[in-house]
Amino acid sequence: MNENVYYILYLLPVLAIFVWHFKRHHRIESHSTKTLHSATEAGMLEPATLHPEIDPKICIGCRSCVAACPEQYAHPVLGMIKNKARLIGPTDCIGHGACKAVCPVGAITLVFGTATRGIDIPVVKPNFETAVPGVFIAGELGGMGLIKNAVEQGRQAMDSIKSVVKSSHSNDLDVLIVGAGPAGITSTLSAKESKLKSATIEQDSLGGTVAHFPRRKLVMTQPANLPIVGKVKFKEVSKEKLIEFWQEVETKTGIQINYGEYVQSVKPAPGGGHIVTTTKGSYNTRTVLLTIGRRGTPRQLGVPGEESTKVAYRLIDPEQYRNMHVLVVGGGDSALEAATTIAEEPGTTVTLSYRSGAFSRAKPKNRDKVDIAAQSGRLSVLMNSNVKEIFPDKVAIQTESELLEVKNEAIIVSAGGILPTKFLQEIGIDVVTKWGTE
Ligand SMILES: Cc1cc2nc3c(=O)[nH]c(=O)nc-3n(C[C@H](O)[C@H](O)[C@H](O)COP(=O)(O)OP(=O)(O)OC[C@H]3O[C@@H](n4cnc5c(N)ncnc54)[C@H](O)[C@@H]3O)c2cc1C
Ligand code: SF4
Repeated sequence: MNENVYYILYLLPVLAIFVWHFKRHHRIESHSTKTLHSATEAGMLEPATLHPEIDPKICIGCRSCVAACPEQYAHPVLGMIKNKARLIGPTDCIGHGACKAVCPVGAITLVFGTATRGIDIPVVKPNFETAVPGVFIAGELGGMGLIKNAVEQGRQAMDSIKSVVKSSHSNDLDVLIVGAGPAGITSTLSAKESKLKSATIEQDSLGGTVAHFPRRKLVMTQPANLPIVGKVKFKEVSKEKLIEFWQEVETKTGIQINYGEYVQSVKPAPGGGHIVTTTKGSYNTRTVLLTIGRRGTPRQLGVPGEESTKVAYRLIDPEQYRNMHVLVVGGGDSALEAATTIAEEPGTTVTLSYRSGAFSRAKPKNRDKVDIAAQSGRLSVLMNSNVKEIFPDKVAIQTESELLEVKNEAIIVSAGGILPTKFLQEIGIDVVTKWGTE
């Protein structure tokens, strides 16, 4: 065989690898650019929690951070643009921090907030107590996201509270726990294990933010040690299985959680301790543990009839709306997802009402789903409209041109949440605003 043929035989595989590498690189770069462009268009550039800030001068483009992000399977969070890592899905970042851990050159810093949007973080001492003696904070409210951190902090904060309530006092309770997410459940178990006089209240349902994850979301967590229960081995589990597990824990351990009760204020009690006022009454307690997370309280419409039991502030099971006339209020992703999934149920009539003229805050994927459902007649969309009054069998909606009366049996309001900053400041807790800092 001629020498050139040998060269060609050797070069072909090298060329094939080069072409494969070039195409893959091009695909990743173009996908990342498109994702960042969509996020920019939808105004979704502000991460809600701890997130990576990548220094392009240090980044060597090795892509380790992209591969390490546990959320990447569901949403592109990190991507590559011009050979540098970029946060391309900022609002999908939940602060795992796995990217920082793998970066070989230290190009990543984990920060709160951005230069344009500050994030309020309460000031908490190492024992989880705030500037207000006897008021403690654990879990995501303190700034540190993730289930494993919430569980660990819930346990540690209760250890600190145990040492405070050792000395005798005249309050009815040793501790009132507010919120039943991962931190609140763990601290409730710990209080029961230590035989403290405690109560736990929750404005919504068991599981906290986890209960609001999209259906079948894969939850990434780490094995944890729960008081009374012992070692829990979950690493990857569906949202539904995790909630089921906590419901079993609640039943088997006999912990008591008062649902549908919302804390309104925390004031000093005359003889020491605190008076906590809720929507259902008040508690006289030595200490308070706030495990209320950072999602806040659902924003209400503030219209007559809203107290009706047919009004909900999130979608739990679309099937429950089968054969019903449903109104969804809001223009963000949760509202659009609720409206389109309910519209898929047989016999359902869905109206989506939004006060603005465009769904500019929602992902293009959800806007497309709304267009498809509207074209097929399964969904009526009322832009620039406001709910005026809720009646048992109908709802009055003001559009630009008329006051409509729409037949109605159920309403889901997805109008965002009121963040707890004001509530914390009223208690006297110091809050600092972080603008892209650690
Ligand atoms: C979309 C998404 C995906 C995520 N995926 C993961 C994941 O895969 N793995 C992971 O580890 N973490 C994940 N996280 C983060 C994780 O959910 C949170 O870090 C964790 O739930 C925080 O727990 P927490 O107990 O501190 O607060 P939360 O879970 O937020 O619970 C707070 C509770 O307090 C209640 N509450 C609030 N205010 C009041 C009040 N005034 N009165 C009474 N009750 C009140 C709320 O209703 C809520 O139930 C994700 C977050 C989001 C948004
Ligand atoms: S791991 Fe570090 S160096 Fe590698 S792409 Fe990510 S930020 Fe850049």
